[in-house]
Amino acid sequence: IANKEVLKIVVVGHVDHGKSTVIGKLLYDTKSLPEGAVEKVRKIAKETGKPFEYAYLLDAFEEEQKQGITIDTTQIQFQTTKRDYVIIDAPGHKEFLKNMISGAASAEAALLVIDAKEGVQEQSRRHAYMLSLLGIKKVYVIVNKMDLVDYKEEVFNVIRQEMSTFLGALGVYPLKYIPISAFYGENITSQSDKMPWYKGTPIIEGIDAIERDKGIEDKPLRLPIQDVYKFDDRRIIAGRIESGQLKVGDKITIYPEGKTTHIKSIAYWAERDQKEQGFAGESIGIIVEDEFFNKRGEIITNETNPPLVAESFRASIFWMGKEPLTIGKKYKIKLATEEIEGEVSSIIKVIDATSLDSNVTHQQVELNGVAEVIINTKEPVVFDVFRESPVTGRFVIVDGYDVAGGGIITQKEGETVSFS
Ligand code: GDP
Repeated sequence: IANKEVLKIVVVGHVDHGKSTVIGKLLYDTKSLPEGAVEKVRKIAKETGKPFEYAYLLDAFEEEQKQGITIDTTQIQFQTTKRDYVIIDAPGHKEFLKNMISGAASAEAALLVIDAKEGVQEQSRRHAYMLSLLGIKKVYVIVNKMDLVDYKEEVFNVIRQEMSTFLGALGVYPLKYIPISAFYGENITSQSDKMPWYKGTPIIEGIDAIERDKGIEDKPLRLPIQDVYKFDDRRIIAGRIESGQLKVGDKITIYPEGKTTHIKSIAYWAERDQKEQGFAGESIGIIVEDEFFNKRGEIITNETNPPLVAESFRASIFWMGKEPLTIGKKYKIKLATEEIEGEVSSIIKVIDATSLDSNVTHQQVELNGVAEVIINTKEPVVFDVFRESPVTGRFVIVDGYDVAGGGIITQKEGETVSFS
């Protein structure tokens, strides 16, 4: 079967609450494991006298993938009758944040696993916060190990109550809360008769019901300008269509100035040919009716879905610089095709490993720190909020010659810049 569609999911939760077991069980029940993996794990369990663990199935999967994948998250695939899934299994939340912020990995939905017996823990909260930070809104809370609490509804309700208060404050509204026992396979593929009080769907049916984001072709047009070439008396504007589509005759608006014109013709470099249309993912050159002396860094959009333009924005950043990120220091900000000088004007919050919400005022962000900051740029820049448009909502911070951090934009700050 020529397959359907792919949904990328990240599985998070406190250590030992059962993330790997949930993933292993999903792979097992959907028969998506590499050949011989189950037998191998059974055999090792028997030889070492240890109990069979679904979690070990992931190791088999990982080994098989090592040849191909180089980023430090493992991408595990499985499929249901509805579609394909890629599960992103990061070794830790730092790696996940780094990959998500830099664009090396992306997840549209998340499973937040909570141990029914242990209840909501520090890391459960931190991971929930991380999801809100990354703008992942399609979250399922999975209350696992229900077997350890005799499948009691009250236990499930207490956790649901606690998490919904916490997540609600972060603006994350889980689609579903699902009580399961990953180990015993309750509420995985079929409705559990151990929990007749639960009227919702089992996990697999649940994730199949998650609606995908619109395809990038159907999103608003975003064409960051890479270069402008002069041929004879024509100017060809070159770039990659990051989202949306365009065709000859379309009315377009070029930001930051916000000037409007029409597309006269389209050229593809690869084909040395004229075309009528262009789609997300394609690198093209366009000729427009009115030439405004456009330059690299500007963004072409359609009229109805303008991007944001400002000299200041709020962002969540991940810092990997040798020197700490410091307020007032000049950095180079690379955002889509734009490169501009910028500085952090304030550090709102630093999230460290021990506390979710820190009230301490910080003057800098250390190596591996995650923080919410305000960035000011020397001149107005064009961008989007990451949640709306990942490519134009993400940036890299360069310190000297080194990439020292990455960030995603959460909101615009200050007044709208006017060019009139
Ligand atoms: P992770 O650290 O979140 O990936 O947790 P694991 O998947 O490694 O699970 C930690 C331990 O909990 C393992 O010993 C699992 O067998 C056990 N476990 C996972 N799910 C269940 C469950 O539904 N019921 C019970 N009783 N144990 C479970």
